[in-house]
Amino acid sequence: MSTRARQYDAEVLRRSRVSDQLVRLVLGGPGLAGFETTGVPDEWVGLVVPGQFQSRYYTVRSWERGELTTDVVIHDEGLVTEWVARGCVGDPVQVTEPKGSFVMPPDAGWLILVGDLTAMPAMARITASVELPTHVWAEVPDELGDYLPAYTTIHWLDQPADGRSRLASVVEQLDWPEGPGYFWMAGESSQMRAIRKHLMRERRLPSTAYDVMGYWRAGGVRQPRAVDPGPIWRAGKAAGKSDEEIWADYDRARDG
Ligand SMILES: Cc1cc2nc3c(=O)[nH]c(=O)nc-3n(C[C@H](O)[C@H](O)[C@H](O)COP(=O)(O)OP(=O)(O)OC[C@H]3O[C@@H](n4cnc5c(N)ncnc54)[C@H](O)[C@@H]3O)c2cc1C
Repeated sequence: MSTRARQYDAEVLRRSRVSDQLVRLVLGGPGLAGFETTGVPDEWVGLVVPGQFQSRYYTVRSWERGELTTDVVIHDEGLVTEWVARGCVGDPVQVTEPKGSFVMPPDAGWLILVGDLTAMPAMARITASVELPTHVWAEVPDELGDYLPAYTTIHWLDQPADGRSRLASVVEQLDWPEGPGYFWMAGESSQMRAIRKHLMRERRLPSTAYDVMGYWRAGGVRQPRAVDPGPIWRAGKAAGKSDEEIWADYDRARDG
């Protein structure tokens, strides 16, 4: 069976500003015919921008009436960042078929979501799709008051002045709700690695009770290779691996 993700040709129809560092891109065009969401609320696509072969991964904020919306974080530098900042409306792009990894156990009685700005699109979709009591910890530099549904309990965390995420230490000090639930977290990779260890060793959560994903790497280190998480995800699932093992495989593949 081929593990190559299907690709769709699309065009940037519109670009708008959601907040200081978040830009909404709406993609469309006849090449997206046949595109289908997985329905998994943290689903992502690989995006290839003009003149590039490498992809970057973006959450499907919505797929409606043939239009695919993504919210893109603009940071100091970067392939997609610079392309978005230059303009990009009318440009041809390619997107891969979507993949998702949020799988809540049927007996979950609560949901905790933790993430930085890159995780906000997924957290917005998850909160809109789940009816459980949900607590969100969001470490974001921007004012995003109404980005998540109003009924969600949100703990806004300031972005530290040195730009280094402190999400790992926030999670280590959480008061956890009683009973079975589900924990989802995404953001800078080193924070995510620390939290996987914490959940396994200190909290002793079964791997079905959490999903922790490194979405990007802090600068100053060699940029990881762009690796499509999709084939790794499918191969891991086929081999009966846990989510935690699959994301560790993904981190290793990106380290090359
Ligand atoms: C499954 C998945 C879903 C994702 N969903 C989204 C999403 O919906 N929206 C979104 O914006 N991102 C999302 N990301 C993260 C996004 O793919 C990365 O941030 C990507 O590196 C950005 O590409 P770039 O070309 O702009 O920068 P790159 O060329 O990849 O990186 C350039 C420099 O910028 C730094 N950098 C990269 N990302 C960030 C950041 N977020 N903040 C600060 N510095 C950074 C790097 O360390 C590097 O030094 C997701 C990632 C994954 C794996």
